[in-house]
Amino acid sequence: MSNVAAPAEAPVRDHVFHRNLLKKYPVAVRAAGVYIFDSDGKAYLDASSGAVAANLGHGVQEIVDAMAAQAIQVAFAHTVRFETPVMVETAGRIADLSPDGLETVYFASGGSEANEAAMKLARQFHLDSGRPGKHLVVGRWQSYHGNTLGALSAGGDVGRRTSFSPMLAPYPHVSAPENEPLESVCPHLGSPGEQFDYIGEFEQVIARVGAENISAFICEAIVGSQQGAVVPHPKYLGRVRELCDRHDIVLIVDEVMTGFGRTGKNFAVEHFGVTPDIITFGKGVTGGYAPLSGMIVHDRIVDVIRERSDGVFRHGYTYSGHPVCLAAGNAALTYYTDNSVLENVVAQGRYLREKLDELQARQPRMGPVRGRGLLLGFDLLDVRGRRHITSEAFNEMAMQNGAIFYPGKGRIDGIRGQHLLIAPPLTIQRVDIDLMVDI
Ligand code: PLP
Repeated sequence: MSNVAAPAEAPVRDHVFHRNLLKKYPVAVRAAGVYIFDSDGKAYLDASSGAVAANLGHGVQEIVDAMAAQAIQVAFAHTVRFETPVMVETAGRIADLSPDGLETVYFASGGSEANEAAMKLARQFHLDSGRPGKHLVVGRWQSYHGNTLGALSAGGDVGRRTSFSPMLAPYPHVSAPENEPLESVCPHLGSPGEQFDYIGEFEQVIARVGAENISAFICEAIVGSQQGAVVPHPKYLGRVRELCDRHDIVLIVDEVMTGFGRTGKNFAVEHFGVTPDIITFGKGVTGGYAPLSGMIVHDRIVDVIRERSDGVFRHGYTYSGHPVCLAAGNAALTYYTDNSVLENVVAQGRYLREKLDELQARQPRMGPVRGRGLLLGFDLLDVRGRRHITSEAFNEMAMQNGAIFYPGKGRIDGIRGQHLLIAPPLTIQRVDIDLMVDI
């Protein structure tokens, strides 16, 4: 940020390949609770939990202690050769939180890696089930699954895809439901409508490319960065599940952003009563203390790999199941339970929503608030005769005023797709919500 001076001891030449090489970033030197402090002592209220990852706030001693203890005990043991107690324990706890049938947990480091693994596992499952043609992944526009090439191919973030489009896999995409309520726009979901038939579009894709070629469908249950906390019609995911069942398509639900309580349930699929074949997770599992991600896999897939693939998933990462990251995850999961974090999400999510609704009633440039739990969002509206503001510019202003939000531009039509995601640490209290809304 331009108004923040570099620290006196900063090197003359900066060797970091920053996200933006032209930008001057504030230097984060300390963090505590929901605040990050820069080298000038300025406090930033972290209203986006970093990238919706620092879900437990900063400086949780128990998590730091668990990581240090694990680093001394066994810092690294390759999962090709060993398992570790912390891996077994963490997998068990994650399986316990997941919908019934999803009982086996595969670990990776980042969300993109988790989704790559899920797409490959779906393919291997079909191959080993005697369906060798199935290889395509159907994704959705207005969805994000990561920046690696497979995940980017399945995702629909036009901005992130454009430069790399010749390198992407030719996966089909369907539209993701727009803002609730959807009854008026999708005839398949209940009431008459003339506009968009989301389920029908998926059916058309299946008919066009052939179910025998489709391996998986991937979506976020509640869309995060791409649409800014858009909740679909209550029946949408169930109808997707039916289509997947009918056509032997693996349903992958990406809960990298929503997993571990963000929306007021352990997993966002619980809002819709749907059991996917694979849930991917990341971010919140460690509260951002270490990179840990993975997938939770349904028994019907695991059984095939066990019986027909000699038990071997033909995939792997060096840092799968890294003990120190797992120690962070294990301690974070303890913290979630011991501190009733889910209950706090429900209570503070309700309070934040009320405050934002009040603000929206007074702010013509703020669209209706949407989302669940502490994953809320709204569009930045265009007001006649006044200058457009992008969500990025809005966030820069907010940072100057001491708060960090998560800017996004989900829809393809530019300025009207500007939105803001609000996703503070799940441990936030009223006093900080009040300050955030003021800012
Ligand atoms: N999936 C979703 C829904 C995400 O929000 C993200 C990151 O924002 C990813 C996947 C990619 O995760 P990562 O950046 O850890 O690779």
